[in-house]
Amino acid sequence: MYPEVQLHIDGQWCAGSGGKSEPVLNPATGEAIGRVPHASRDDLDRAVAASEKGFRAWKKVSAFDRYKTLRKAADLIRSRADDIARVMSLEQGKPLGEARGETLLAGDLMDWFGEESRRAYGRVIPARSEGVYQLVVKEPVGPVAAFTPWNFPINQAVRKLSAAVATGCSIILKGPEETPASCADLVRCYVDAGVPAGVVQLVYGVPSEISEYLIPHPTIRKVTFTGSTAVGKHLAMLAGQHMKRITMELGGHAPAIVFEDADVDVAIKVLSANKYRNAGQVCVSPTRFLVHEKVYGQFVDGFVAAAKGIKVGDGLDKDTRMGPLANSRRLEAMEAFVADAQQQGARLATGGRRIGNKGNFYEPTVLTDVPLSARIMNEEPFGPVAPIVSFSDFDAVVAEANRLQYGLAAYAYTKSAKTAAAIGAAFESGMVSINHHGLALPEVPFGGIKDSGFGSEGGSEAIEAYLNTKFITQVGL
Ligand code: NAD
Repeated sequence: MYPEVQLHIDGQWCAGSGGKSEPVLNPATGEAIGRVPHASRDDLDRAVAASEKGFRAWKKVSAFDRYKTLRKAADLIRSRADDIARVMSLEQGKPLGEARGETLLAGDLMDWFGEESRRAYGRVIPARSEGVYQLVVKEPVGPVAAFTPWNFPINQAVRKLSAAVATGCSIILKGPEETPASCADLVRCYVDAGVPAGVVQLVYGVPSEISEYLIPHPTIRKVTFTGSTAVGKHLAMLAGQHMKRITMELGGHAPAIVFEDADVDVAIKVLSANKYRNAGQVCVSPTRFLVHEKVYGQFVDGFVAAAKGIKVGDGLDKDTRMGPLANSRRLEAMEAFVADAQQQGARLATGGRRIGNKGNFYEPTVLTDVPLSARIMNEEPFGPVAPIVSFSDFDAVVAEANRLQYGLAAYAYTKSAKTAAAIGAAFESGMVSINHHGLALPEVPFGGIKDSGFGSEGGSEAIEAYLNTKFITQVGL
């Protein structure tokens, strides 16, 4: 049922030439379901050479033809969505419905990037002298090195792959070793749609060895990474030393403010659904719940009831609403966060325990009255634990929302247009969603500020990130 995972280099699917591999575990059982091959240094050299060759050829293909290839890839991933979703659920743990939604959204992203690249216009700047033409031309940045994580094996990769393919770049993707097969299925859609050899490479291996080899390599012109802030800072430093363009999509710790005039039932429904989606392993997950003291009790009761109502189980079971955590590191992290918060005086309102003794299942958990010094109020939880605290004053809640170095997503619930405008302006974050959860569509910007990163992976900004600007001035003779 679990497919053989291969690397993809220069138009060929292949095993790692060094013979190294590591097991892939099913997070619902802890059992090995397959292996992921590691790329050797020779494989990486071949991937770099192929991406140089692929770039030279692909950049000459018109945006209109690149768009047609992406449309074909989108059709392919839609037609394969059921099979791919099953593989993703098996290796990552998320419920089938979430895996299918993620796979189908990949089709929308491919379509959108393909269409948008046809409108990556330059411009003509009026000259100061007669006969002079001043042109601004957009050109693909070149071969890209991309690194994507295990929480959304397809969604994190499809944005980078599609932006590169759409703009005429080539790309070497180091996919997630823990969830490699669904990411490989994604790459197969571009390949089967007719992307020429050398345009898209897929490798796996020891992440630090691959990034330290690819980022400084003179052929690579851009680096894009999704993952933790700590690793992102390290890779950005490496990219800076070698003057490479970067896009960094890093961690977050999103404040979710519920004002006293909010529709509290809507806030409970939308925030709890998004908090426990993908077992909380989502960079834009609402993670610090700041609730006005007048509606605090109502919100806590409703949120706890919602958490208790979530059916936890194997992602492949059709009734499952929350799967296991993707790896045992997250399970240990949840146990440490909850113990620390309780030690510091927080109240455990529900959950707080591992479920069973096999697989990485953890109860949907709510902590209330959590002191700001607790680790979970400062470090990205990346799991199904929701800390809730109360506030009474607008300025104080804004200060708390902006206290951390993260600045990815922020949420607020209020019926007042004035409060909505004020909080929208006050949040220090790359994305703000008020009275609903409206992030991550292909056509809207997706990215953070502060320690949450740099650049955007949605909207027209995501195309711009793969283009150089060239100025050409000429005088007619
Ligand atoms: P981690 O920091 O070791 O790894 C995060 C990702 O970075 C993984 O995909 C990993 O393969 C990759 N990585 C690690 N070192 C690398 C290197 N030197 N070069 C290239 N890639 C490298 O931790 P983890 O245990 O996998 O995840 C823990 C934390 O990472 C989470 O708590 C969360 O904060 C963050 N994370 C964020 C996202 C996101 O979507 N922004 C995704 C996954 C993990």
